[in-house]
This record gives sequence, C-alpha cells and structure tokens, in this order.
Amino acid sequence: MAIIIDGNELSRKKREDIKEQAASFATRYSRPAGLAVVLVGEDPASAIYVRNKKKACENTGIRSFDYHLDVATGREELLSLVKQLNGDPEVDGILVQLPLPAHLDSQEILLAIDPGKDVDGFHPYNMGRLLTGEPTLVPCTPAGIMCMFREYQVELKGKDAVVVGRSNIVGKPMALLLMMEHATVTICHSRTRDLDRKVKAADIVVAAIGKPDLIRGSWIRDGAVVIDVGMNRTDAGLKGDVEFEEAKNHASLITPVPGGVGPMTITMLLDNTLRAAKSHVS
Ligand code: NDP
Repeated sequence: MAIIIDGNELSRKKREDIKEQAASFATRYSRPAGLAVVLVGEDPASAIYVRNKKKACENTGIRSFDYHLDVATGREELLSLVKQLNGDPEVDGILVQLPLPAHLDSQEILLAIDPGKDVDGFHPYNMGRLLTGEPTLVPCTPAGIMCMFREYQVELKGKDAVVVGRSNIVGKPMALLLMMEHATVTICHSRTRDLDRKVKAADIVVAAIGKPDLIRGSWIRDGAVVIDVGMNRTDAGLKGDVEFEEAKNHASLITPVPGGVGPMTITMLLDNTLRAAKSHVS
C-alpha cells in the first residue's frame, strides 16, 4: 500500500519557511516583497484562484497588489498596466491570471511582463532558461512537484519517468526538470499510442491531463511514484487524472486529489515572489 504524499502538510511547512524569509527580507530592505495579481473579467474559477493567492500572500507577509479589471478591458489598457507594474519598485512579481477573455492575446500579455517579475515562469525567457538547464523562475506546479520529490527523498537519477500531458504550464517544464535530475523522460499526449504500456514501464508517473481516472490503477507498476496533477470537477467531487483507489495498491508513493499537488502550486508562487524580490535587491 502506497504512502500518501501530504501536500497540505508539506505546503504548511514550506510556507512557514517562506514566512520567515519574507519577514527578514522586509526588515532588511524596509519593505515587504510584493506580488501584483491581475484578474480580467469575472470567471468564477479564476476569481477563487486569485482570492486564494491573495490570502496566501497575506498569511506569509508578502504584500499583494490587487488589480481586478473589467471584462471589456482592452489590449492597450492591460499592456499599459503591465508596463506600469514592470516599473514599480514595490512590485517584485506580476501574475496575470489565465485564461484571459478571448479578445486578449495571452501570449502578447505574458511577453510584456518583465521576465524578472514573471513569477508564473511562463515568459519565453524563463522557459528558455529552463530548457538550457539554467532555470530562473520556474512554473509553480512542476516546481512544487520537484519539492515533493526532494521532501520524500525520491531518487530520480536513472529512473524512467513518464509525463502525461505536454502543456507549457505543467507537462513540458515538468519533463525538463525531471531530465535535469537525470531521469529518462517520456512525454505522452493525446496522440500517444499504447499509453498503458508506457505508464506500465514507468518508475515515476506524472499525470497532467485534465480527464478523470484516465490513468487506470492497474497500469501502475509495483513501487512506482505517482503524481496526479489533474483537477477535474465531477458529480462525485474533485477528481484527479489517476484512478486513485486502485493505483494506491501498486504505487510506493502517491498524491491524492485534493490535498496533493494543488496546495504546493500556490506555495511555489510565494517562493518565486520571494526569489524575484531577492534578485531585485541583490
Ligand atoms: P492542458 O489541457 O493544457 O493539457 C492537457 C494535456 O493532456 C495535453 O498535452 C493533451 O494532449 C493531454 N491529453 C489530453 N487527452 C489525453 C489522452 N487521452 N491521453 C494522453 N494525453 C492526453 O492542461 P494543463 O496542463 O493546463 O492541466 C492539466 C490538468 O492539471 C488539468 O486537470 C488542470 O486543471 C490541472 N492543473 C492542476 C494544477 C494544480 O495546481 N493542481 C495546476 C495546473 C493544472 P495534446 O497536447 O495532444 O492535446
């Protein structure tokens, strides 16, 4: 039976550490680290994420600057806000909550963010640094998963890792981070053939798909480490991408949904903000 990775507990521990670092930053530089959170429109899920991020900032001594813009906000107005935040010395991190309304080009907006303030790690500069093996600000979800591997002393060197999903925010950066730790990585996606066979051969499985229970428990090799990024709202509540009840009989370590990867994502946002703040004063 697998050990269940406790993302809430790990997150609590890590936030304590961030809180101490944030306090000493504030004392040393006579200002708190600051995160600007920009929300355009009224998407209910985005509004919840933004609220949670703000609350997490308040609880760790990071100042949050809140920009809630009307759904009809135009390109020029949003770009001009980003420019203003890029130049604001009290703002260390800028987060533009995605998805943006359809009339706005997310890629253009993300490109406008100063890479040194890009605490989501989505700017091509930060992505490129990760690709070349010299990461700066790393996307929060995969960064949180790496933190889990460290905490639970998961050996990655030489292991066969399968990442299911190739998005820019999870799958691709996850694969790069695993490769940096010398895992042999296979990236799977919607056109992958024989997904079951690939998962069955993996020592480490990261599922970032967005389809409940797509990864069957019986595919998990005995002793494998299973990280479930999926967050799927179903009639039975929030579910992951992995068939947890069966998978936990095979895995050595597994994350639950909820209470696994999710809490660590916001924690790593705080971590990135503090990292950015330190780089701005050094
Ligand atoms: P995307 O929709 O951007 O990417 C999903 C990926 O899954 C794509 O690469 C897609 O392949 C692949 N895929 C879809 N269907 C299949 C299939 N049948 N077999 C194999 N691969 C498939 O999603 P995200 O990466 O943004 O998010 C993935 C999940 O993680 C979602 O549930 C999301 O809510 C959750 N999430 C959770 C976070 C957390 O903090 N816990 C943070 C971010 C995301 P293709 O590229 O070919 O289309």
